[in-house]
Amino acid sequence: MESTAAVTFESFGLRSEVLEALKSLGYEEPTPIQRETIPALKDGRDVLGQAATGTGKTAAFALPILERIAVKDRRPFEAQALVLVPTRELAMQVAEALQKYGAGVGVVAVPVYGGQEIFQQIKPLKRGADVVIATPGRALDHIARKSLLLKNVKMVVLDEADEMLDMGFEEDLQSILNELPSERQTALFSATLAPRIAKIAERHLKDPVRVTIAAKSVAAGTLPNIRQSAYVVKRGQKEAALMRVLEWETPSSAIIFCRTRKEVEELTHVLMKAGYEPAALHGGLTQEQRDAVLRKFKDGRLRVLVATDVAARGLHVENLSHVINFDLPTSPEVYVHRIGRTGRAGKDGVALSFIDPREQRLLGNVERLLKKKVALAQVPTRAQLDEKRVETVAEQVRVVAETPRAQAFGALVAKVGLPVEQVAAAAMMLLQDKLFPAHEGDDITAAPQREEKGRRRDDRERQAPR
Ligand code: AMP
Repeated sequence: MESTAAVTFESFGLRSEVLEALKSLGYEEPTPIQRETIPALKDGRDVLGQAATGTGKTAAFALPILERIAVKDRRPFEAQALVLVPTRELAMQVAEALQKYGAGVGVVAVPVYGGQEIFQQIKPLKRGADVVIATPGRALDHIARKSLLLKNVKMVVLDEADEMLDMGFEEDLQSILNELPSERQTALFSATLAPRIAKIAERHLKDPVRVTIAAKSVAAGTLPNIRQSAYVVKRGQKEAALMRVLEWETPSSAIIFCRTRKEVEELTHVLMKAGYEPAALHGGLTQEQRDAVLRKFKDGRLRVLVATDVAARGLHVENLSHVINFDLPTSPEVYVHRIGRTGRAGKDGVALSFIDPREQRLLGNVERLLKKKVALAQVPTRAQLDEKRVETVAEQVRVVAETPRAQAFGALVAKVGLPVEQVAAAAMMLLQDKLFPAHEGDDITAAPQREEKGRRRDDRERQAPR
């Protein structure tokens, strides 16, 4: 599905410092959840959002928070916005995101969570935190000690509310919500809108705007010629995993999709260093640059294109062998649109996706839309690749050995002045090095796993509620 409405971050009327930050991060356009949530929160409405990790929900609430706070009003212990999260890990991530988007605003975002010495957290709170990101138990501790004062809180966000309930934080949440000023704004995000969530929403949200990124269903049997698989790999290992997969698959032509312009640039650079000749396609290119890249790609002079969705809009290439999602897109429809570029006109295509373990729910959304499972695959091991290399080199040697030209080289072997086997070994080494880019010592440990219901929270860092 191609969206034509040009909703931009600028159209939300965000602070110029924030727009600058988004630009330097390479965000080209808001994700679906951001498109709906940001204007509603900016208008002062409460929001009830159904969104999984990977949809861009952090920015969906972080950007409106940055609009609501005034750093000049910073006072010791008084927060202007409060974000409640289930885990320490998420608290740190949200705090980092706020600092990142709000660097130009000068926002101070402080994470507080169970498991860390409470006195260590009091110091930054005393210095003044515009936004406090807290696990519920620890938030209550600070409230009780008066090291967190809520009277100036203008916005509260419950992030991953279903997880917080699963972890037994319901009472804590109710207590915190009851303590907050009643004229505050509230946003609740949850991957599922189970009845327990609906109950909290009914009690604590005022006439909320409901945001569900409803997946329109795709006819079963769509995209039949496309082999789809996914690799579950931690963020930091994705590049190494991609290199192995590219070597294994040897695509004749591939588009690799990234979420941001910055990622496109970084990945293009990595691929270049690895000996590929990729081109980057993103919204920062001039029309001329873009046309030049596309021409080269279409006539086969370029085999690998690294692109954002925005830049690839309207791009149709004959005979595209692979679509690679370096990140899953933030909505399932975009996945279908991306991979539909391969497997055209009855030809076979391949769609491969790299998924951070935290974002497996996004894959679930894709599968619901497609009404079929996407197979989880193992990244090829170094040993498998080495074996394949040897076979490829051997095959090439076998093919050319019979040609008259190769036979004419026979006289040269004697001139080297070394035993024939040694010459052959050296020549094969040279051929292998030429055929395959040097690989650095990569270390990929993540094994494919499907997230099981109820298991997720055990995988994550838990802390005692208090
Ligand atoms: P989240 O769902 O909040 O965990 O975000 C998932 C990822 O998407 C994060 O790495 C963000 O940096 C990235 N992201 C969020 N919004 C956008 C956007 N509008 N364009 C590109 N990337 C984004």
